[in-house]
Amino acid sequence: RFISFEGIDGSGKSTQARRLADTLRTEGHQVVLTREPGGSPGAEEIRRLVLEGDPDRWSAETELLLFTAARRDHLEKTIRPALAAGKVVICDRFADSTRVYQGITRGDLRGAVDRLHALMIGQDPDLTLILDMDPGLGLARAKGRNGTEERFEDFGEGMQARMRAGFLDLAREFPDRCQVVDAQRSTDDIAAEIAALVRGALA
Ligand code: C5P
Repeated sequence: RFISFEGIDGSGKSTQARRLADTLRTEGHQVVLTREPGGSPGAEEIRRLVLEGDPDRWSAETELLLFTAARRDHLEKTIRPALAAGKVVICDRFADSTRVYQGITRGDLRGAVDRLHALMIGQDPDLTLILDMDPGLGLARAKGRNGTEERFEDFGEGMQARMRAGFLDLAREFPDRCQVVDAQRSTDDIAAEIAALVRGALA
């Protein structure tokens, strides 16, 4: 089974992905916890190319190609082998992030995003957990993290609000696999809801 976490910056995706991986492991599942951009040696190199250095280095179109190349390598080297071995794959961001970020907020590229996805990726998660939260809160939390990847932390609150709306639109577009989770509760409460949703999906 293939599970992804999505949501705006600062919504708690990485924390909840780790929690879920721990929970499933204690329940006897073999779990691969991975992330995008990145998740394989080649894709982690592409991550550095995109996230470090001059923010104006790449156009929105080139950035879309780089994210797609990274995703293809991640699929080939990490995700597909793990799924073929019967493991549960938990991915912190996947193609929905590209549908929102490259598709809507950094350019009007959703058509190109969809065509590239069909051509080169052709796979979506079985279950996508969209961590939903007030954009101002997410921004404050993302800024509080002392990350090196500053280029993407420069989003204003208006941009975060558009991203939140973009993820909620995707939940309506793909209702069979997407679950919206209220991410403004305690970490434990959120983790408990997610564990219940995932147990239902794995049963
Ligand atoms: O999730 P994480 O913080 O590792 O993502 C790194 C940055 O890359 C984020 O700030 C996110 O906004 C950006 N990103 C993006 N397009 C994607 C995936 C991530 O712009 N498809």
